[in-house]
Amino acid sequence: MSNPYRYILSKTGGPEVLEAELIDVPIPGEGEVLIRHEAIGLNFIDTYHRSGLYPQPLPSPLGTEAAGVVEAVGPKVDGLRENNRVAYFSAPLGAYATHRTLAAERVVKLPDTISSEVAAAVLLKGCTAEFLIERCARVEADEPVLVHAAAGGVGSILVPWLKASGAIVIAHAGNSRKAATAKELGADHALCCPMEELAGQVRAITGGKGVPVVLDGVGAASWQASLASVARRGLLVSFGNASGPVPPFSALDLLKAGSIFVTRPTLFDYVATPEQMQAAAARVFEMVASGAIQVKIGRRFPLTEAAEAHRAIEARATTGSTVLIP
Ligand code: NDP
Repeated sequence: MSNPYRYILSKTGGPEVLEAELIDVPIPGEGEVLIRHEAIGLNFIDTYHRSGLYPQPLPSPLGTEAAGVVEAVGPKVDGLRENNRVAYFSAPLGAYATHRTLAAERVVKLPDTISSEVAAAVLLKGCTAEFLIERCARVEADEPVLVHAAAGGVGSILVPWLKASGAIVIAHAGNSRKAATAKELGADHALCCPMEELAGQVRAITGGKGVPVVLDGVGAASWQASLASVARRGLLVSFGNASGPVPPFSALDLLKAGSIFVTRPTLFDYVATPEQMQAAAARVFEMVASGAIQVKIGRRFPLTEAAEAHRAIEARATTGSTVLIP
C-alpha cells in the first residue's frame, strides 16, 4: 500500500480481525506533532488488545510503539521541529499506521546513533526492563534472578541488563535454541526444562534457597514454577500473560511459598508522567550507548503483514524484538 493507512479493530478475535484502512494524513492540533512512521515495534500487548484480553472501546486503532520523523508541528509545541527524528511508546493506541498525530509531550527525541528500527525495537521493551529491574524489583548485585521467556523481546533485554547490574541470571526459555540465545546474551544459567522441573533446577543452582526475584512475563503456564522458585520473603514480579492470565490465587499460597511478595505491574504506571517517560527512555539509550545491551531485531515484517507477525509471536516463533515496516 503506498497511500497512508492504519490498522483498525472493529471486533476482537484472532489475527484475521486486523484490517487496514486508507486514511487522510492527519493535521496536528494544539500541542501535537504529525509523525511519519519508519518502524513500528511489535509487542505482545498488541495481541491482548486484538484478542480482547485487554478490552478497548471499538472501533479502536492498534499499536503502542513506533519511531519516525516529525512531518508537521501543531500550535503551542516547544522543543520539536519538522524533520526531528522521534519515537514514542505508551501513547494512546495507534502505532500500526503510516502516519499519526500525537501529543508532543509523549514523544522522545532520538539520539543520532539510534535508528528508527532500533528505537522501535528497544524503547518499550527497554523501558520495561528499566522499571522492572531498577524501580520495581530493585535488583541488587550478586542476587540470583529467574527470568522467563529469556530470549523473547523483553527477555533478551532483561538478561544483559541484569548482568550489567551484577545479578546472577537464571534464564528459562521454551527450547534449547532459545536457551542458547539466552546464554549468548550473558545468562549464567540457561534452562529449557519443562515448567514442572524448573523450580527443582532453580533450587539446585541456589543451594536450595530459591531466588529472591522472579521476573515472569509468561503468566498462567509459569505461575506454579515461579511460586515454587522464589526464596523465602522473595518477590515474584508477574508482568505479563503470554500464555494466558495468572489464575486466581489465595493469599495463603503466598504464605506457603515462604511469606513471599507478589506484584503485577504495568510499565504505564512507571512512566505515568512525561518526566518519568523521558527519564526511562534516557536510561535505555544510555544502556544501548554503553554497549551493556545490544538490540536484537529477530524479524522484520512489512506492516501490511501485521497479522502474520501476530501469528509468529503468539506461536513462540520469534526471538528478540520484531519490527513492522510501513
Ligand atoms: P516475547 O517476545 O517475549 O514473546 C512472548 C514469549 O513468551 C514467547 O516467545 C515464549 O517464549 C513465551 N511463552 C511461553 N508460553 C507461551 C504461550 N503459551 N504463548 C506464547 N508465548 C509463550 O514478547 P514481549 O517481549 O513483547 O513481551 C513479553 C511479556 O512481557 C509479555 O507477557 C508482555 O505482555 C509482557 N510485557 C509487560 C509489560 C508491562 O508493563 N507489564 C510491558 C512489556 C511487555 P519461550 O518459548 O521461550 O517460553
